[in-house]
Amino acid sequence: MSYFNNRRKPASEHVYADIIIWQCSICNCWSRPEFVHVAEPNCPMCKGMMNREAKNIRIE
Ligand SMILES: [Zn+2]
Repeated sequence: MSYFNNRRKPASEHVYADIIIWQCSICNCWSRPEFVHVAEPNCPMCKGMMNREAKNIRIE
């Protein structure tokens, strides 16, 4: 056997990842890209411009 199997992880541990999201330039609102279907979305809360940004969010 030549593989390691010692990466134990508690079941309660959440997984986070950096993904590109749309972040409002005015308020704290942001959207996942799979919910945005236009090239230049506006914020659903304040109608401000949204920018693509990396954000560390929980994926599991
Ligand atoms: Zn906004």
